[in-house]
Parts: sequence; C-alpha cells; structure tokens
Amino acid sequence: LITLGLESSCDDTSAAILRGREILSNVVMGQTELHAAFGGVVPEIAARAHAEKLDLAVAEALSRSGLRLAAVDAIAVTAGPGLIGGVLSGVMCAKGLAAGAGKPLIGVNHLAGHALTPRLTDDLAYPYLMLLISGGHCQFLIVRGADRFQRLGGTIDDAPGEAFDKTARLLGLPQPGGPAVEDAARRGNSTRFRFPRPLLDRPGCDMSFSGLKTALLRERDRIVAEKGGLTETDRADLCAGFQAAIRDVLTEKTRRAIALYLEDAPAQPAFAIAGGVAANRAIRAESETLCARSGLRFTAPPLSLCTDNAAMIAYAGSELFAAGHRSDMTLKARPRWPLDPGAQPLVGSGK
Ligand code: ATP
Ligand code: FE
Repeated sequence: LITLGLESSCDDTSAAILRGREILSNVVMGQTELHAAFGGVVPEIAARAHAEKLDLAVAEALSRSGLRLAAVDAIAVTAGPGLIGGVLSGVMCAKGLAAGAGKPLIGVNHLAGHALTPRLTDDLAYPYLMLLISGGHCQFLIVRGADRFQRLGGTIDDAPGEAFDKTARLLGLPQPGGPAVEDAARRGNSTRFRFPRPLLDRPGCDMSFSGLKTALLRERDRIVAEKGGLTETDRADLCAGFQAAIRDVLTEKTRRAIALYLEDAPAQPAFAIAGGVAANRAIRAESETLCARSGLRFTAPPLSLCTDNAAMIAYAGSELFAAGHRSDMTLKARPRWPLDPGAQPLVGSGK
C-alpha cells in the first residue's frame, strides 16, 4: 500500500510517501525563522506559509520517493486538531490531489498520528499504553486500534511542551524551549529549587503544569532582585529543578496509568511515548526504568518522528485505509478534535 501523507496543523509543512511501513520520503519544511521575531507561532503567518509550501513539499516527497502521484493508493491528511488556517490549507490541498488523481482521501486526527507512530517504527501489538506529550497535548491513552483510543487522563491546563517553551522564554533561552531547557538542565542542580508537583495526592491520571511557570517566574524575579541578574548556574539550576518537577509528575501518573492498563491483562504489555516532549532524555530514561520494573516493553519513536511530520499521518492513514475507512469531499478541518471514543468519528468527514 502506497500512501501520501500531508501535515500542516502547526508550524511544519510536511509531505511523506510510505510503502507499507517503509518511509520512502518525509519532507519537513519548518517555519521557525518566520515566527522567531514574535516569540511564538503566529497562526496567520503559519497558514500563509503552508498554503505556499504544500505543493512544493508534495512535489519534493514524490521526487525523493521516485514515484508519481498515479502510483499512490491513498491520500491521508491531518484534518485537525490544530491551527485552523494551516489545517484548512492541508485539507484543501489533499482534496485537490485526491479529486485530480482520482484517489481515496482519508482525514486523519493529528493526535492519532502521534499515537500510532510507535507502530510505524516498531512491531507493537494492540492494546498498548501511550503517553502522548507534545507542544499542545498531554494524555494517557490505551490504544486498542487505529480508530479506538481510551483516554485515561491528561493535563487539565498547560501541556508540558508549552511549559518547556515558556520556561525558555522566561530565562532568555532560544525557542523551541524543550531542547534548550534540557541542555541547561544537564549542567544544573535539580535540588536547589523545589518546584510544585500538583495533583499527586489526587487519584487518577490527571495532571497540571500551569503552576510551574508561576513558581519559576517567582524564583527568577527573586534572584534578579537580590543579585541584579541570573548567572549561568542559576539558569541551569532553574532548568534542572523545572525538568525534575515535570519528570516526577509524569512518572507518578505513568505508574497509575500502567496499573489501569494492566487490569486488562494485555498479552504483550507495552508502553510507548510520542510527541515532541518524548524527545527529552530525562523523561525517556525514567519511563524506561519504570517499564523494566513493571514488566512492560518500552518503546519510543526516533526523535525525528516524535515531532510533527507527515510520515506519521501517512502511516495512520494507511492503517485506517486498511480497516476500510474513507473520507469524502465534505471532509472538514477541525480546530478541536479529541481522541476520546464516541466524541467524534475517528476518520474525518463533513459531519
Ligand atoms: P500538538 O501535537 O499537541 O499539536 P505540536 O505538534 O506543536 O503540538 P510537537 O511538534 O509534537 O508539538 O512537539 C513540540 C514541543 O516539543 C515543543 O513544545 C518543544 O519545546 C518540545 N520539545 C522538543 N524537544 C524537547 C526536549 N528535548 N525536551 C522537552 N521538550 C521538547
Ligand atoms: Fe504534533
């Protein structure tokens, strides 16, 4: 099965070609420079850049794969959730290609793309437990099939990726904040500052990260008031303390999610993490240890497939296609599209 995938829900314009699980091409055109001056992604600028770049990304993906559009069996596109202008650009581009070439169209949930990526890179059987941690989301899911997700809990406010980005901004580190904060944290002392670990005393898998940035801001301002500025050591210690707080919350809640998941007695118990924050080495290492102790297999996609890319959308599309799902020309772009079962159909349609 040859699948063309398109992704344009945030600030990466991407197109990919898959033959089965083999990635023939995965072109990712980032927009970091376009948004750099604004300290965050500007939706209007992103939408325009996607509209300009999608055709180029598709042409490049086809050219690198050595295939022509005629050879493609299905076209998968992110139909949400995300910045609506970008999602619209992708959906319109995919509809044009599907109508022009007479190919089936599949509207894919971006979160399903992240959540299924571990099956693209590893032989992972359903049902597996997944922690999806990205720039805009954080949730525990039992993945029972390409269109069957059970949400166990998640953040009730900020996503960890957002928190990493805000922390970097508060400390004058570059964007995206995750890699910069992780790098500084490696040189820091994680016990100098004790940041809050909210909701640990409550049952369930819900999490909260918004208090963390307020606590960090308070410490930063206190140091600046006392000493007139931050030293490299202050910065490293703040990052280390911040990262340790996130890691501890994720670890404790993962322990609970594992217990819920094991109630099903899955034949091949496995835990996977995906999304941009899954690139964090401290978080990965902690998850790995926890799994080893609980008798679960641990898997995480390579870093390049953790952040936004069209290969994951093509892959999710190929699984949905194989299961008989199709979208049509009424396919709608959705700014919000939760993975919870029953909330909305897991293949995009006009409904
Ligand atoms: P969503 O998928 O929820 O719509 P998104 O697609 O924008 O959000 P991703 O591309 O999956 O998010 O991930 C980007 C986020 O990952 C950014 O917030 C970035 O700071 C974070 N990130 C990247 N590398 C690391 C790292 N090493 N440590 C922590 N966070 C990281
Ligand atoms: Fe994403």
